[in-house]
Amino acid sequence: MTTGADTLEDQIKQIGTDLAAAFPSSTRHPLRALDSRAMELASSDGELRAALFRFVDVVPACRSLDDLARHLTSLLEEVPEAPPPVSAAMRLGNTKAGRTALGVAAAGGVRHMAHRFIVGEDPRAALGVLRGLWERGVASSVDLLGEATVTAPEADRYADRCSGALEELADAARRWPSRPILEHDSTGPLPRANVSVKISALTPMLRPDAPEIGRRDAAARLRPLLARARDLGAHIHIDMESLDSREAVLELVLEILSEEEFATGPSAGVVLQAYLRDSPEQLDRLLEWAASSERTPPLQVRLVKGAYWDHELVEARQHGWPAPVFEVKADCDRNFEALTRRLLEARPAVRVAIASHNLRSVSHAIAVNRLAGGEDRDLELQVLRGLGDELQAALAARGHRVRTYCPVGDLVAGMAYLVRRLLENTSNESFLHEQARGVPLETLLAPP
Ligand SMILES: Cc1cc2nc3c(=O)[nH]c(=O)nc-3n(C[C@H](O)[C@H](O)[C@H](O)COP(=O)(O)OP(=O)(O)OC[C@H]3O[C@@H](n4cnc5c(N)ncnc54)[C@H](O)[C@@H]3O)c2cc1C
Repeated sequence: MTTGADTLEDQIKQIGTDLAAAFPSSTRHPLRALDSRAMELASSDGELRAALFRFVDVVPACRSLDDLARHLTSLLEEVPEAPPPVSAAMRLGNTKAGRTALGVAAAGGVRHMAHRFIVGEDPRAALGVLRGLWERGVASSVDLLGEATVTAPEADRYADRCSGALEELADAARRWPSRPILEHDSTGPLPRANVSVKISALTPMLRPDAPEIGRRDAAARLRPLLARARDLGAHIHIDMESLDSREAVLELVLEILSEEEFATGPSAGVVLQAYLRDSPEQLDRLLEWAASSERTPPLQVRLVKGAYWDHELVEARQHGWPAPVFEVKADCDRNFEALTRRLLEARPAVRVAIASHNLRSVSHAIAVNRLAGGEDRDLELQVLRGLGDELQAALAARGHRVRTYCPVGDLVAGMAYLVRRLLENTSNESFLHEQARGVPLETLLAPP
């Protein structure tokens, strides 16, 4: 007898296997294969990993190549049993000429790595890559990297950069060729220009003990951005950060989007983090808001697992609080699937974006949607530039609507971003790490 679950699992397996077959061959990406080896080395040795993270952190502060190599060798000296390539690097670092050579190689390595994740120094420099993606059937969301916002002028500058990015993108995107799958779903048109915004960068006053002040300050910068996006026909997506700012961010966004001025636009979205134990209640709240709101177009909800897992655990332990995040990866993955189902059922009150590099999570969303009679175009799949390139290509090849989150900024601003992505990519429980280790597809696609 075939049960509903069997059918769903069969579909997931079929979709996952088909997507895996559409992944571009890694032999066509020799540089990427090299990066995977570097990442493998970093993930196999905790001490080395920690040293490399510290190194990536100090690169922007280095004034010369010599300086850079000195930092590298001193950090590597802390690794008790250095693997052979690292010992060779440390020997090189003992002479000035060797240090310079090492510095050149290290700076090149970091720059190369950063370019995998960052599409350009500013929006204009990124336009070529964004158009290239679009032509290959991939939409984008631009994220302006910045250092922490600690003063009002920094927040103003970030808001100006976002506004400038909206103008540049909207202007350039008008000349992009038609890509129906990326431009329409069954509720209507989808903007070509799409910018992701961080509320913590829009105000220096976002503090958990005084959320109202931060909210008011951020609102003063968010409103003009939303108005600009509406006038340009662009989409604004509000990223979610750590838990201590979640309440302020959600309150702020839902409140402003309820204002008369924004009743018919812009297209906007928020993020739901499935690693949080209370995420089902957060979804209740979002769906209640969406059901009672008459604004158009529908709010887009981007479902993610969450990028601040270690931070949330450390923070909770320090305060003696219970962990707000799941501590078992499979619990987080199961919750992600439950939230996926609920979000898909809630359409057309919301638009759904599933953001993950996990082939199981993505195949599950596609399967649930199809089994419920939904069209592929009513489900958006999102990946991060550099981490999801292969999945992005496979999804586009199979006719899915895929959007790549594209950070823009200089190498210095990109460091914090790069470190977070490296940590994620080399963590033992990460799907990408398991995939790189050669875990069989059948296991990767099994229910969590
Ligand atoms: C387009 C896009 C936009 C994003 N925007 C945001 C955003 O606004 N805010 C945000 O926070 N994140 C965001 N992320 C990052 C996202 O939250 C994930 O960190 C990342 O995508 C990895 O999840 P995965 O499903 O791809 O991979 P998986 O390997 O399947 O999942 C890894 C994730 O599982 C969780 N996890 C790891 N170990 C455990 C454990 N022991 N117990 C429980 N859970 C665990 C963590 O969240 C970890 O990141 C975004 C991702 C994408 C693709």
